[in-house]
Amino acid sequence: MAVSMPPLPYDKKALSPYISEQTLEFHYGKHHKGYVDKLNAQIQGQSFDKASLEEIVKNSQGGLFNLSAQAWNHEFYWNCLSAPSQNFIPKELQDALEKDFGSVETFQSQFTKEALAHFGSGWAWLVRQDSKLQVISTHDADTPLAHGAVPLMTCDVWEHAYYLDYQNNRAKYVENFWKIINWNFIYKNYSS
Ligand code: MN
Repeated sequence: MAVSMPPLPYDKKALSPYISEQTLEFHYGKHHKGYVDKLNAQIQGQSFDKASLEEIVKNSQGGLFNLSAQAWNHEFYWNCLSAPSQNFIPKELQDALEKDFGSVETFQSQFTKEALAHFGSGWAWLVRQDSKLQVISTHDADTPLAHGAVPLMTCDVWEHAYYLDYQNNRAKYVENFWKIINWNFIYKNYSS
């Protein structure tokens, strides 16, 4: 049983102009697919070939961890995004963000700061850990799933996520990231 390449939850033009069709063609169609293909090649005939992607992430190390975590992180990232028109924060999530960060704006500026300060490749996250919402970042393929935290939201800060649209301007990419958040997905993660 191979790990499947999940369909993008929207059309490749849906995130424009903030994330272009060209970026999705490369980031989803080449980078994400590359992780899934390489993962499947490695687990073929191995004990992991009947495991779910999440089980592989939680029980692997080294190259297999990197590939499975990248496959998982990317699927999660695509789901965090949506066309700009569908973007508002459900009240219950807003209340939770206000409780743990003081305000939605404080949460957003803390997340943005984490995403911009992260050195090199990685991911910025909103997670729930010890019953509290927290902003963290992980290096390279690393993922909160492997550390007992519940991921609620992520921003891919690998250069391949923004280079075609923004070149080295990560700040502009993250600024526009906020315009295409699928808050219903974040809320679903929060409430599950
Ligand atoms: Mn990526």
